[in-house]
Amino acid sequence: MSKEKENDLMQKIVSLCKRRGFIFPACEIYGGFANAYSYGPYGAELKNNIKKLWWKMFVQEPEEMIGIDGPILLHPKLWEASGHTEGFNDALVDCKECKMRFRADHLVEEATGKDLEGKLEEMTKILKEEKVKCPNCGKSNWTDARFVNMMFHTEMNSYEGTVYLRPETAGAIFVEFKNIIDAMHPKLPFGIGQIGKAFRNEIVARNFIFRIREFEQMEIEYFFNPQEKWEPIFMDWLERQEKFFYALGLKKEDIRLFEHPKEKLSHYSRKTVDIEYNFPFGWGELSGLAHRGDFDLTQHSKFSNTKLEYLDPVSGEKFVPHVIEPTFGLDRTILVALLAAYHEEKVEGEERVVMKFPLAIAPIKIAIFPLLKNKPQLVDKAKEIYNLLKQQYTCEFDDNGNIGKRYRRQDEIGTPFCITVDFDSLENNDVTIRDRDTMKQERIKIDELKEYFEGRFNK
Ligand code: ATP
Repeated sequence: MSKEKENDLMQKIVSLCKRRGFIFPACEIYGGFANAYSYGPYGAELKNNIKKLWWKMFVQEPEEMIGIDGPILLHPKLWEASGHTEGFNDALVDCKECKMRFRADHLVEEATGKDLEGKLEEMTKILKEEKVKCPNCGKSNWTDARFVNMMFHTEMNSYEGTVYLRPETAGAIFVEFKNIIDAMHPKLPFGIGQIGKAFRNEIVARNFIFRIREFEQMEIEYFFNPQEKWEPIFMDWLERQEKFFYALGLKKEDIRLFEHPKEKLSHYSRKTVDIEYNFPFGWGELSGLAHRGDFDLTQHSKFSNTKLEYLDPVSGEKFVPHVIEPTFGLDRTILVALLAAYHEEKVEGEERVVMKFPLAIAPIKIAIFPLLKNKPQLVDKAKEIYNLLKQQYTCEFDDNGNIGKRYRRQDEIGTPFCITVDFDSLENNDVTIRDRDTMKQERIKIDELKEYFEGRFNK
């Protein structure tokens, strides 16, 4: 695809999301705020469905997994132990002409292809010597690059000192390691999963919901005996992560792995791999997998003066487990699910836009239409079906406009099945079911509907 076409796709997704009620720019009536977004009715359903699928695949089904839900405001010492207070910094540079702020490393990388993460002086030198242009005003007049911490600060009436909004969810898992061991007595290897909000004071929020300041993560800490070979565990997690993305409808060719070079790894990590997606604006990180050794438990043990060890019930040995961390960004996952679902098709000379979400994540599963809205018998029958099916599926009742228009709307929402109640339905007690992808229609008896959908959704 050409660059223009690709950007076009991003524009189309942003506009469909707003027009159809998936995702809105937040606080628009106040002129917008901080490039934040609100999930509208269909976006909220899509988000919940993706969370549910993740929880099912990573917490509910694997025997060795458990889930928790920790707080956003955590003890500030936790962030000292994890290194965030000291080192969770991004390089900021100001354009002296137009006063816009940018990530210095991103500007340098875009201009020269060099990855200078962390090297402030070199970034400043390149920006000035190579006269890198400001993406906003086109001039080249930069301040020196400087580090800013990415954690949001706040205060608590009951605590003296700065409190932070968590910049990642993982911390909330490590601090409950002891409680989980004491309450659940899990056998190694075991994992703890969590879904929740994280906050990062990003210098530039951009690319729709790819980079925002308030987002959600789905993270796992997978603990194992350091005597065990870690490579197969790592590879197994990589496969499980990819499987999740395929279940969301992503294509193999749009996913690639990026292994962090040895010299760039954190001192405690043996291996870190990013799963990248071919976004319309280029390849970008979607999800990560990191071997973190015993770094986190050892640090939290040191800073909290609490032993964080595992007692092997068979050998009686005590040791600090090692950990592998699969991490997913929920908002980025939603963006790729939207991008992968988007299809334009020509049908009988007309173009239709259809979101081909896999059944499990489609925001609305079944739409129910009376053929005409001014015929009470049709409306009553359709309402009856709606009331029957909505107990099990997210359904929508729609009696607006002609059927063709209603189909087009449901195609753009990605609804897999539409039911129409017509005059024959009143005679024969049956309805038409139209399939989103094939657009084929079939007649089904009303009292067989439940069974019909069970067969479709529980395949
Ligand atoms: P990036 O390099 O893109 O800033 P990162 O390496 O800092 O990402 P991690 O700290 O590994 O990201 O966070 C785990 C996941 O959280 C990422 O893979 C991504 O999906 C998500 N994520 C991180 N920052 C943001 C953000 N600002 N907005 C939305 N999602 C994010």
